[in-house]
Amino acid sequence: MFGQRPAWLDWVDGKFVVVPEKAAIVKRIFEEIADHGYGLEVMARRLNREGVPTLKDRPGRVGWHNWSIVSIVTNPAAYGELTPKRRVPGGKREAVGEPIAGYYPAVISRDLFERAQAARALNRGTGGPKTNCVPNMLVGRVFCAECGSKVRIRTNKQRSNSYICDNAFRRAGCTNGSFNAVHWIEKGVMDGVLMFNLYPSTPPDDHPAAVALREELAELSQQIARGRQRMTRLIDAMADDPIPEVVARVREMGKEIEAWEARKLAAETELSQVSGRATIGEQIEAVQALREAAYCEDYDEREAARSKLSLALRQAVDSVKIDRHKVSHVVAHEGKISFQITKGVLHDMQFNIHGDVWRLLDDGRIERI
Ligand SMILES: [Zn+2]
Repeated sequence: MFGQRPAWLDWVDGKFVVVPEKAAIVKRIFEEIADHGYGLEVMARRLNREGVPTLKDRPGRVGWHNWSIVSIVTNPAAYGELTPKRRVPGGKREAVGEPIAGYYPAVISRDLFERAQAARALNRGTGGPKTNCVPNMLVGRVFCAECGSKVRIRTNKQRSNSYICDNAFRRAGCTNGSFNAVHWIEKGVMDGVLMFNLYPSTPPDDHPAAVALREELAELSQQIARGRQRMTRLIDAMADDPIPEVVARVREMGKEIEAWEARKLAAETELSQVSGRATIGEQIEAVQALREAAYCEDYDEREAARSKLSLALRQAVDSVKIDRHKVSHVVAHEGKISFQITKGVLHDMQFNIHGDVWRLLDDGRIERI
């Protein structure tokens, strides 16, 4: 054994054995970060609030910390990959050689791992949604239209939240001191997302390229599952009797599985490019399904809805810029879609379709300008 054994695995009779209750916690952490976009702090707090035991007892340390979450959510061992490491002077460990796929029993899919990394990348620099009730679903996306500064949230006496330019708030050179009601901007952004299906450049789901890619993906998934089974048998054999030929075969198989996984990922990216609608469709679905719950009375339901919605909205929207007239200028999907919001009402929606600008008419049709 030349890796540090992940805390959710035991080593019994010369092989790795999954500890189901620990694996369930690992899976939950990946899923909640991938699906809800929780930051490390919120994730740790959620587990502590429920009294979920940590994976390892550490003397003098109680409960979950940022670092215990990050050490799990960045560990490829969760989907079975070993990164061989050695100690270097100073006590640190550095990677040596190629990662070995399929070395550990996987407790999550590589897919889920990648989704969690993507959600974390979205949060980077924002610290993630910090509080449990997710006051700012558009965290990291709202800016001052005049100085480009990030905004901060102010809560007034009626306990409603507004965005204000951080520079203006600190009297640091910007004079755009307008307060912009968060709920109006949220409403306008969600109304906007619901109109994204008007963007016509995306082929429907039965586009031949999309169909072919879906078939390829299904086949790859089966191939990977079968490969992993064979791999597990080989690793079992290796644990009993680590003969060099078996070790070599395991490495070979690992590389094959890795190549299939890589192709699978590439095919998934291609698919999302071929049918950009899949992403837009998911964003629209998220708004339709969660909009009501995002404002409901029940704390937990509201929190869960707002977290998921936050992820969908931040994927849909590039930026929301607030100006001094309390008009919000929204840009979405790499500039292909733009619209404005005044007091919660959406207006001036435009679609940039292959270089041509189309605008949304009152009757819901779009017209080329
Ligand atoms: Zn400003």
